[in-house]
Amino acid sequence: MIGTSIFGFGGWVWGGTLVVFFVSSSLLSHYGESRKAPLREQFAKDSRRDLAQTLANGGLAALIAVVAGLVGRTAPIFPLLALAFYGALAAANADTWATELGVLAKQPPRLITTGQVVPVGTSGGVTWQGLSAALAGAAFIGLSAFLLVQGAARVTLGSWLPQDWVLIPVAAISGLVGSAFDSLLGATLQAAYYCDKCNKETEQATHRCGQPARLQRGWRWLDNDGVNFLATAAGAGSAAMMVMVLF
Ligand SMILES: [Zn+2]
Repeated sequence: MIGTSIFGFGGWVWGGTLVVFFVSSSLLSHYGESRKAPLREQFAKDSRRDLAQTLANGGLAALIAVVAGLVGRTAPIFPLLALAFYGALAAANADTWATELGVLAKQPPRLITTGQVVPVGTSGGVTWQGLSAALAGAAFIGLSAFLLVQGAARVTLGSWLPQDWVLIPVAAISGLVGSAFDSLLGATLQAAYYCDKCNKETEQATHRCGQPARLQRGWRWLDNDGVNFLATAAGAGSAAMMVMVLF
């Protein structure tokens, strides 16, 4: 659904950026697999993506692509939508890279709000490695988009568009903003549960032991997928804002 709307309404440059996000995230999820396996067991997370996860990461980008396709490339709002699209994907990529590489960090994560040391995998926990991975993941989307735009311009216009380098810093910053927003929500408003039977924190309302877990903090309706979606919105919003301020 997401791939078809982005390729269909956004064209192959936007679709290509989606492929970069999907392939790089999938490859990274297998990187250091032996060290991640025990964590997956503990937090009941899987490297495969389910429907809600996929919509949370790519839903907004797909929606922007549909709107951009409907208004057309000559509409004054089109450049803003394009940057918002790359900002949303940069945030999704930043968050995935930060999660996949951050859990392998030697130092324990600290809560982004209080600096308190928390167990690996805790929502809102950050490490320098994770934050660097977020910045790299976001910049990677910007670089890929830049190269795809150049390739498309060379083919269709017969020339390069070197001034579009601005895509790289805009994607890098907006992706990092989205990822930091993700951690901030994870540490504050995201629902966190506690299983009294296993004496363990969990993100799920029903612990994997089958016992209903007790809400410890946060909003019951705001789960990890909701937070991921809002993080892509923060990425899209900050990219659009940067473009309005700069140009
Ligand atoms: Zn339990």
